[in-house]
Order: sequence, then structure tokens, then C-alpha cells
Amino acid sequence: MTEQLRELYQQVILDHNRNPRNFHELEHATKKVDGYNPLCGDHYTIYVEIDGNTIKDIGFTGNGCAISKASASVMSATLKGSTIAEARQLFDVFHKLVTGEPGSLSTAELGRLAAFSGVSEFPARVKCASLPWHTLNSAIEGDKETVSTE
Ligand code: ZN
Repeated sequence: MTEQLRELYQQVILDHNRNPRNFHELEHATKKVDGYNPLCGDHYTIYVEIDGNTIKDIGFTGNGCAISKASASVMSATLKGSTIAEARQLFDVFHKLVTGEPGSLSTAELGRLAAFSGVSEFPARVKCASLPWHTLNSAIEGDKETVSTE
């Protein structure tokens, strides 16, 4: 990890863990999915309000480690208002990022998502970071009501 990425990592994880965005239930959720990571004890419920092809709103509740909470917070802030197609694309981008695969977006294009590339250095933490995304993906695809990383 470069010095710049290390700083971004600490800054984003601390900020979003202390002050998570969209940390609440959604009154008008069209779908909610529970996500568990038994390895770490992370457990979140992700709420989405989907209108046509757009994710109108995202909220989440639950608890877990700093990385999982920050990941859920950044994800909700990033994807709120985006289309389903954009969400699918970012899901793929994020997955590559945390598993250390080279992606197509530059650090500048990734913005605060880039912070999570640091997670690829800690294999045990990859599931923490990706849990909220897997859970949201399931809410969008509408195939499950519970997601587990195991
Ligand atoms: Zn965790």
C-alpha cells in the first residue's frame, strides 16, 4: 500500500465507522436482506428502495467491525441514486479492489472506494468489506433474504 492509500484507508474507515451514513431503516424499502459474516461476527440488514431501474434510497442497520460498517456506509452513500446497471458495475469494481485484482478505474476515479484496496493485504478482512456489497447485490437481484459469507 502506498503512503497515500494508507492515509485514505485510515481516514475513510475511521470517519465512516464513527459516523456511518444512511444508518437507519427505510420506511419505504422495496426489499431488505440480512447479511452475516460468521467469521468476524458482522451482521447487517440492508434496505433498498428501488424505483424502476434506479436505487432511490439505501439504508442499513446492524453491527460489526469497523471495516464492515465503513464499507456499508460508503456503499450506501456511493450507490444512492444510481441505476441498477451502475450498481452491478461497481459491485464488480469493488470485488476486484478488495481481492487485489487490477481493475479498470484509476484511484482518482474510485474516490473514497479506493480506500478499500488496502483490505486486499488482510485476507481475513476481505469478507468484512465485501459483506454489505454481497447483501445489497442480493437485494437488487431479489433472489435471497439472507446472505452468509460462509
Ligand atoms: Zn468484520
